[in-house]
Amino acid sequence: MPTALITGITGQDGSYLAEYLLDLGYRVVGVTRRTSSAITDRLTHLLDRVELVGADLLDQSSLLAVVSCVQPDEVYNLAAQSFVPASFQQPILTGETTALGATRLLEAVRMARPDARFYQASSSEMFGHVTEMPQTEGTPFHPRSPYGVAKLYAHWIAVNYRESYGMHASSGILFNHESPRRGPEFVTRRISTAVARIALGLERELALGNLDARRDWGYAPDYVRAMHRMLQQAEPRDYVIATGATHSVRDFCEAAFAHVGLDYADHVVFDPAQLRPADVDLLVGDASLARVELGWEPTVDFLELVRIMVDADLDLAGAARPVRPRPSTIGAAG
Ligand code: NDP
Ligand code: GDP
Repeated sequence: MPTALITGITGQDGSYLAEYLLDLGYRVVGVTRRTSSAITDRLTHLLDRVELVGADLLDQSSLLAVVSCVQPDEVYNLAAQSFVPASFQQPILTGETTALGATRLLEAVRMARPDARFYQASSSEMFGHVTEMPQTEGTPFHPRSPYGVAKLYAHWIAVNYRESYGMHASSGILFNHESPRRGPEFVTRRISTAVARIALGLERELALGNLDARRDWGYAPDYVRAMHRMLQQAEPRDYVIATGATHSVRDFCEAAFAHVGLDYADHVVFDPAQLRPADVDLLVGDASLARVELGWEPTVDFLELVRIMVDADLDLAGAARPVRPRPSTIGAAG
């Protein structure tokens, strides 16, 4: 039974990856950091199947101790300060966690378990101000936030450990991926939560920033399969993981409100406080390499993703679903 060590196991992807690896027969060990109240909401259903160990990406010795003790076959570094606006407010913390944290973990693996296979959670935010469409593994990087810059450092340090020490380190350049477990501050979840509450008459308005930003949104459970496949390859390398379709925040609003029979224009208002000092206008990925080498395909398209998220938030709010949802009129991918 192989052993996987997952940092960020309490996050969206960590919980889905843990589920996936447990179903494959792995022993799964998750890293959690010390907080005054233990927040393991996304893991409640797995707590009797995963082992949790304490460590922090800010603390080298704790990471070294965990890797030495667990002796993992595969290490998935999913932990990060992952929210772009917070990275503008806390750029140093973001660098310490998201950038240097990856180095600390790589150092721990290099010292205590150098044969372990290593996955780094890279991000399409590294492309930022894009210079070609769609974005591939060869597209130049131009990050637009301290988060994007920190992820780019972590990306290159993983490449560097692969080239310098022969470690089996791979980065997945994952485009945005969402689910009912997405953090509540990300735009898709803000929309699905608000749509559910507005449909129930609990709220009337949703205040958003840039409605014209376009993202390549996929479904998180699909994306964790790609992480695992990368570590099963004979040779480590980096892969773009994306659906190949791009939609605007406005498209997401339109589809989500339409799913409960409402018109987004009646409920969405502009909130300048949600604008960023610099934003990423457009992302769309080309996952051809992953298709060919990993045999990876996404299974959930944009409209299905919207429906999954809105339905889950309706259920969460304890609501019966609306009787006659109006069909969406969103166009195809650009
Ligand atoms: P989340 O924000 O949901 O989870 C982040 C995780 O990191 C949490 O478990 C959090 O723990 C942990 N963490 C934060 N700081 C530390 C620290 N100092 N020490 C140890 N653990 C820490 O992210 P996602 O699951 O959405 O994403 C997973 C990874 O993939 C992240 O690195 C993210 O940046 C990256 N990524 C995500 C994309 C997406 O669309 N979701 C796209 C591309 C990349 P706690 O619960 O204690 O806060
Ligand atoms: P990101 O791609 O990692 O930054 O994911 P987010 O879900 O946080 O943001 C995606 C896009 O939605 C960005 O271009 C934001 O500017 C835009 N956006 C518009 N309104 C909002 C909002 O109220 N909250 C968030 N988080 N993003 C918003």
